[in-house]
Amino acid sequence: MTDLYRMLPGELDALMLELGQPRYRADQVLRALYHDFPAGVDDLRQLPAALRQRLSDEGYVLGAADEVRRVASEDGETTKLLLRMADGTLIETVLMQYPEKGSGKHPRSTVCVSTQAGCAMGCVFCATGQMGFERNLRGEEIVAQVLHMARLLAERDQHVTNVVFMGMGEPLANYPETIRAIRLLTDPRAFALSQRAITVSTVGVLRGIQRLADEGLQVGLAISLHAPTETLRQELVPTAGPHSVADLVSAARRFFRRTGRRVTFEYALIAGKNDSPELARELGALLRGMNTHVNLIPVNPTAGGFERPARRRVLEFERILREAGVNTTVRVEKGSEISAACGQLRTDEQERQVIGLEEISGAPVPPVRGRRQSGLAPAPSPGR
Ligand code: SF4
Repeated sequence: MTDLYRMLPGELDALMLELGQPRYRADQVLRALYHDFPAGVDDLRQLPAALRQRLSDEGYVLGAADEVRRVASEDGETTKLLLRMADGTLIETVLMQYPEKGSGKHPRSTVCVSTQAGCAMGCVFCATGQMGFERNLRGEEIVAQVLHMARLLAERDQHVTNVVFMGMGEPLANYPETIRAIRLLTDPRAFALSQRAITVSTVGVLRGIQRLADEGLQVGLAISLHAPTETLRQELVPTAGPHSVADLVSAARRFFRRTGRRVTFEYALIAGKNDSPELARELGALLRGMNTHVNLIPVNPTAGGFERPARRRVLEFERILREAGVNTTVRVEKGSEISAACGQLRTDEQERQVIGLEEISGAPVPPVRGRRQSGLAPAPSPGR
């Protein structure tokens, strides 16, 4: 079976040619896929019935992500979905809305997509990192998350304005499918989002950063640094190499030279761990003179043993960086009351299912797929 949502416009052109169809058929399909949200091949009413039949006979389908749970923040600006892929894999997608000043303007609507189920990077403060790695998502499964949110927004007469690859998983460890998703989302004949409206966030897959810099795209890059020293970074990101801080800073410089796009460094602030004024000064010295931006993210308070620093400590960290000449902001917190940090909703759902099984059957609890069996309490949130 082939999902038509997987196909780039050029591939669809080739398919229509192969099926003996005029080229404009590909445009008809693309318009339907990205504007009408059809439920299946039979819904592509723009196509002749014989062609629809032929596509079905040859195994072409329209994949979709089924909504398992939806939670919204009290202010309605953050919506988090737990989605089920065709094979049952559960992943999370978040919509964050930022009202624009001035009446009548559409809000900025950013979709945060997952690129893997689980994650192998093991960041110690991240719920997804504690699940372990389950599988890579396919390009069309990444796109399905955006389209699901697009459909939801269309009901409110709104649309997706930005996409960030910051959900579950490390996008650059799933490089080919991440790039396919970016191309589908930005191709003017497909979803037609501006490349500059997309940001890829990585915890530091060097080879991936180099490839992305050479890809000829104008997408933004965010690097989750979390520490200015090698030892501390390895403690927080156990999969980081011995020179990851130095390597990432030079990779960011190269990315800027190649693309002209300023790199953002994400820094999850954890009380008593990486939030001291000394570390702020070290970070300032590391990044001084670079055309970059630092985004400070106080970690979500959780039961996992890491705490968010006090507000004054966050502001002091920010002040020191700014005085060092480093452009710095503190991330506006969105939806913490609905566990907006990646991995938490899926963790909650799996625990709910485990509890449900116990309640209903009294049977032994089966292992939960893709999840370490130790530490059932949700781990602290990621800083991405
Ligand atoms: S923060 Fe990102 S890279 Fe690190 S474990 Fe979590 S999902 Fe993976």
